[in-house]
Amino acid sequence: MSIENKIELLKADITKIKADAIVNAANTSLLGGGGVDGAIHRAGGPDILEECRKIVARQGGCKTGEAVITTAGRLPAKYVIHTVGPVWNDGKYQEEEKLANCYKNSLWLAVNNNCKTIAFPNISTGVYRFPKKEAARIAVDTVKDFLSETNQIEKVIFVCFDEENYGLYETLI
Ligand code: ADP
Repeated sequence: MSIENKIELLKADITKIKADAIVNAANTSLLGGGGVDGAIHRAGGPDILEECRKIVARQGGCKTGEAVITTAGRLPAKYVIHTVGPVWNDGKYQEEEKLANCYKNSLWLAVNNNCKTIAFPNISTGVYRFPKKEAARIAVDTVKDFLSETNQIEKVIFVCFDEENYGLYETLI
């Protein structure tokens, strides 16, 4: 299957997506926040937070660009992959590389947990203020590179919540 056929674009609420894994734009504490993080914990229930707490006890949170995996609780997905996007700071702190690492590390974690389908939100483009156009380009390029190197992932779904991001991804895909 061609790489293009493995990429899907949706305008939707990611908590409703039935993929093997959905990705959460978490923060380093892993203990919940607003935006998509709040929506995932609200819809998924307390089991997700409980597993996050265990991860925190074990490894002390999650660094920017890295990812961890938990149950998806009551969500239709099997797993939630929590990754921490960079806060945009004028691009002076390797934000682009860190955002690409979020996508790469989430994809590897999905592969290592036998996931074949994975859904991503537009990481860092909410309260973390990463410029949307640049973030979309990094997301699409990183996913395409990954799909060209590995065969385990059958479908990557970009789930946009706002019209602006949806339009940007539509142009890129
Ligand atoms: P960050 O802190 O990484 O910027 P946010 O949650 O503030 O994370 O925003 C990331 C993106 O998630 C934004 O583009 C926002 O519109 C989107 N978002 C918010 N709620 C949902 C949801 N329920 N499903 C999918 N995307 C969402």
